[in-house]
Amino acid sequence: MSNRTFTMIKPDATKNGHTGAILQMINAAGFRIVGMKMTWLSKEKAGEFYAVHAARPFYGELVDFMSSGPITAAILEKDNAVEDFRKLIGATNPAEAADGTIRKLFATSIGENAVHGSDSNENALIEGDFFFSKLEQF
Ligand code: ATP
Ligand code: MG
Repeated sequence: MSNRTFTMIKPDATKNGHTGAILQMINAAGFRIVGMKMTWLSKEKAGEFYAVHAARPFYGELVDFMSSGPITAAILEKDNAVEDFRKLIGATNPAEAADGTIRKLFATSIGENAVHGSDSNENALIEGDFFFSKLEQF
């Protein structure tokens, strides 16, 4: 299923009231939402989701941030979904993100950067299955 990606609207964007605007941009860019839920990650679950970054210096900060408030998790469908979604969200650091990207518009820092986007088809499947049962993926 190379036409799907996974995203989270992170706690900063949720808290700042940007969920609706971000979902609107996602739809306007041609992505179909095929699974979605609002949830709040425990520290343990956030640590598990970002386990790949466990050795990085910012891991503790990342886990604290991602478990600091509610998020919206979603599975998105579109041709070339992974690459096109990363283009739509922009660079990890909002200071380097292109104009018009979600992170340029809504992120506040490299850590609190509004949205997550999968980096490969393989991870999109793993991450979608982390949040959604098969019955919740349409
Ligand atoms: P994401 O995986 O959330 O879509 P990304 O793929 O652009 O982001 P990664 O390198 O996978 O970036 O980093 C995962 C997350 O860790 C980033 O989105 C950000 O929240 C945080 N992060 C990355 N680098 C830093 C850093 N230097 N300082 C603080 N937080 C960071
Ligand atoms: Mg990443």
